Amino acid sequence: MEHKKEVDVSEWYNEVVEAAGLCDKRYPVKGMNIWLPYGWKIMQLIDKKIRKEFDATGHSEVCFPLLIPENEFQKEAEHIKGFSAQVFWVTHAGDNPLDIKLVLRPTSETAMYSMFSIWIRSHADLPLKIYQIVNVFRYETKQTRAFIRVREIHFFEAHTCHADAEGSEGQIKEDIQIMENLGKALALPYILHKRPDWDKFAGAVYSLGADLLAGEKALQIGTIHQYHENFAKAYNILFEDKDGTHRHAHQTTFGLSERLVGAVVGVHGDNSGLILPPEIAPYQVVIVPVPKKEKKEVVEGYAMEIQKLLMDAGIRVHLDLRDLRPGNKYYDWELKGVPLRIEVGERESAGGTVTAVRRDTREKITIAREGLADVVKSLLTKVQADLYERAAKALEANIHWITSIEEGRNRRGILRFNWCGSEDCGMGIEKGLDVSILGIPLNVNARSGRCIVCGKPTEMIADAGRSL
Ligand code: ZN
Repeated sequence: MEHKKEVDVSEWYNEVVEAAGLCDKRYPVKGMNIWLPYGWKIMQLIDKKIRKEFDATGHSEVCFPLLIPENEFQKEAEHIKGFSAQVFWVTHAGDNPLDIKLVLRPTSETAMYSMFSIWIRSHADLPLKIYQIVNVFRYETKQTRAFIRVREIHFFEAHTCHADAEGSEGQIKEDIQIMENLGKALALPYILHKRPDWDKFAGAVYSLGADLLAGEKALQIGTIHQYHENFAKAYNILFEDKDGTHRHAHQTTFGLSERLVGAVVGVHGDNSGLILPPEIAPYQVVIVPVPKKEKKEVVEGYAMEIQKLLMDAGIRVHLDLRDLRPGNKYYDWELKGVPLRIEVGERESAGGTVTAVRRDTREKITIAREGLADVVKSLLTKVQADLYERAAKALEANIHWITSIEEGRNRRGILRFNWCGSEDCGMGIEKGLDVSILGIPLNVNARSGRCIVCGKPTEMIADAGRSL
């Protein structure tokens, strides 16, 4: 690796996603990248985790059309304001202009909600909980970055409708729990923030964002939005309640995207490349035979035995029989972040052992062939837990309490401070420190102090950071 993570995390990131074979950015439309097999496999394993969580909580998967008619798209005023500068339009069919222009979905509220108004008739139809995993399109004007700021986005969106505010608030609680489970599965500790009003999702009553640190840069990995009746009023989503009155549904959404891949890269990777959490690693174990010439067959035969043993135990394992020096193979698999490398040579095949090397700590461990699969499984569990722990400590260590703008100037990571809550002071902080206000951290106790801009006494605290 040419770039060092601690020197320039952005350049290091760009290099590692290419070198590890996650995506190809040379496609002739900027911000639309090609998923290469290794990167796509990681994404699919993440999607599997996501589906598991949402299926288990009573959501059903659907798939809506990509195109949304202009008149549907423009029903919710705030939503239009938020998205109009970012959307792609389809205006022609062949040479003929369309009667009604079509928008490439930037998200699917406006595609789904006119259908919800048809589907939902009575309280018995509620709650309605659906999700889809599809591509969405947004014309990103900032500099694009693989998985993080792209124009065609591999996107997850859950949409729910409830009979009342209590129902939709209950959904937010469920979403917070799902986010926590996914954070564990991906070994990504984060801080959940309530976004400031000027930064909430277009059309939402409030928005929550899950933010983590990649190097010292902040990265949003998930969003949860409470709409209450805002969209239901615009899209006429009405149901007949038990008492015969007609009420608007209360709605929520939950959004995730390919950014999760970017976060895994940015949080865990080091100057040798990726480090993948075992739960989402395409190969959890790679076996590299290290034979002397005359023993090649014996050693490779033993390596195949080991491969079968692990495969039969349900471990994702790859045997690297390429005609390359072991050192070159080590380099490749370190770059690709395989959690565990197993080396087998003459000594191992004669002694009935293997030598395992952890990608995260580089610790070398000799394991007997007898009971190997169980030991490898518990080792992978340990790697997963250690990665989470290490990232959680790094996040904690990079939260800096500041009592003035001046104090924040030379600080990196997440800045935490008292804030009176006014937009003026918020802007003062953003401009003064060249950061974005991430919002009010949930699960962090209020702390008495003075707003670092206007000096007004306040208990409210907020976080800010520079984004990747
Ligand atoms: Zn203030």
